[in-house]
Amino acid sequence: MSETRPWAPGAGTALCGVVLHPAGHTRSPAMHNAAFRSLGIDAAYLAFDVPPERLAAALAGARALGIRQLAVSLPHKEAVIPLLDEVDGQARRIGAVNTVTRRGERLCGANTDWIGAVRALERETPLSGRRAVVLGAGGSARALVFGLRERGAHVTVLNRTVARAETLATELSAEGAGPLDALGSTPHDVLVNTTSVGLGSDASPVPADAIAPDCVVLDAVYDPEQTRLLRDAAARGARTVPGKWMLVYQAAEQLRLWTGAEPPVEVMAAAFDAAGRH
Ligand code: NAP
Repeated sequence: MSETRPWAPGAGTALCGVVLHPAGHTRSPAMHNAAFRSLGIDAAYLAFDVPPERLAAALAGARALGIRQLAVSLPHKEAVIPLLDEVDGQARRIGAVNTVTRRGERLCGANTDWIGAVRALERETPLSGRRAVVLGAGGSARALVFGLRERGAHVTVLNRTVARAETLATELSAEGAGPLDALGSTPHDVLVNTTSVGLGSDASPVPADAIAPDCVVLDAVYDPEQTRLLRDAAARGARTVPGKWMLVYQAAEQLRLWTGAEPPVEVMAAAFDAAGRH
């Protein structure tokens, strides 16, 4: 019987990682390392807790060490832009970079949050021509509105601070904007929560009876996995997509950007789940 040696880092191992602050409990190393092992890629992925005042030094270190890919998480997604050699058009339009890939000597910025959200939604519904409502007008709302428009959905942005919703809608060509309590009077086939309401609590940004019974609901909040909004939506008869899938798919697209390989999405999702149990 032939024996397969377990992977161990060696002289040729590529280094990847995520920069974020505070580091908290990120599941990105679990997802990416599981994907590397599954695909037989000789790479290791670590989490780097980098406060804002050390971001430039961290990027200089990444260049010097030849780090192959860095995920960029909160609070660095905008601040990283001027530190890069190039930023693709999608990330520029969204105004945020969540992925830095080394190409030769150049550090290249991209954004996979939007495609992660789109693929998560596409597990349940096509998006072209659908009426979508995005709750929130922060960083993830920008990625969602961009992605929904890319796929040809009609988008309305609703936010606690209406002026922010209006600005976002204008900048990213959404069709409407308003307050959160306009949901009940805004027809929707797709509903996405990108507010932080529900994060670590049992609150929902909108009342249950404002959710269309036949729509698809994605909650970007992934902790807890079954948020109040998702439970309310399911009770109304809507189909639901936990925010976990948005994270898994954005990580999968990062892997595709670096390696060109087809990402093992189910392996990454299982690693995400397992990391949440520790
Ligand atoms: P952000 O830029 O700080 O935006 C926060 C949004 O939440 C704003 O629209 C804000 O409204 C709204 N908000 C905050 N507290 C509220 C309240 N009490 N009532 C109503 N609205 C409130 O945050 P972000 O980076 O977009 O992240 C938002 C959420 O998405 C977080 O929970 C984050 O964990 C999650 N997320 C998930 C993924 C994923 O892959 N699943 C990726 C990124 C982010 P105002 O404009 O009125 O302040």
